[in-house]
Amino acid sequence: MRCLNCKINIITFIDFIYKSQKVFCYRCNKKLFVINDIKIIKNEKVHILYLYSKILKKIIFDLKVNNDLKAGVNLITPFKKQLINKYKNYFIITAPSYYLSDFKRGFNHTKIIFKSLNLPVLDVCYKNKQYKQSEQSINGRRKIFDTISISYGSLITGKNILLVDDVMTTGNTLLSIKHKILKFKPKNIKLLVLSKKII
Ligand SMILES: [Zn+2]
Repeated sequence: MRCLNCKINIITFIDFIYKSQKVFCYRCNKKLFVINDIKIIKNEKVHILYLYSKILKKIIFDLKVNNDLKAGVNLITPFKKQLINKYKNYFIITAPSYYLSDFKRGFNHTKIIFKSLNLPVLDVCYKNKQYKQSEQSINGRRKIFDTISISYGSLITGKNILLVDDVMTTGNTLLSIKHKILKFKPKNIKLLVLSKKII
């Protein structure tokens, strides 16, 4: 088994006793900031797995740009059992990339990251414009809200929805999606992100 980040073999004694779940070596594990807890972001409960770090940045880049699909899936591995148990009756909706970016790439990387949870995915949310996030201004937030569209919204009605994203910055994107989804009367919505940037 190789470390997901530095690719060294995880065979040393310290890795063995550290019980890193064979995803990262001891050294990389120390540089990863695992949160795996519910935090309040803008009055909303968000389940955050990691703090965004250089290591995560590299792995997400490898996934998006170098098509290293396995790397993304492995990020979930340490939490897999717990997440499956916690969200077993939920349908996943992924925060969208611009649809043309996914088309060029051939996949939606956020979907890949959460794939190992084996939850049903509702492809109902997409971004109709490429909009780089300068989410801070009110104008920016308004624009983000306007770039997100929901199609086949009736699929959402009455369901438990797990809204997921790879990197949360201010939270504006995810909260915009949540508000759009609410119109279709889901039974429940929970938010889960792979990582949160400190801003
Ligand atoms: Zn490593």
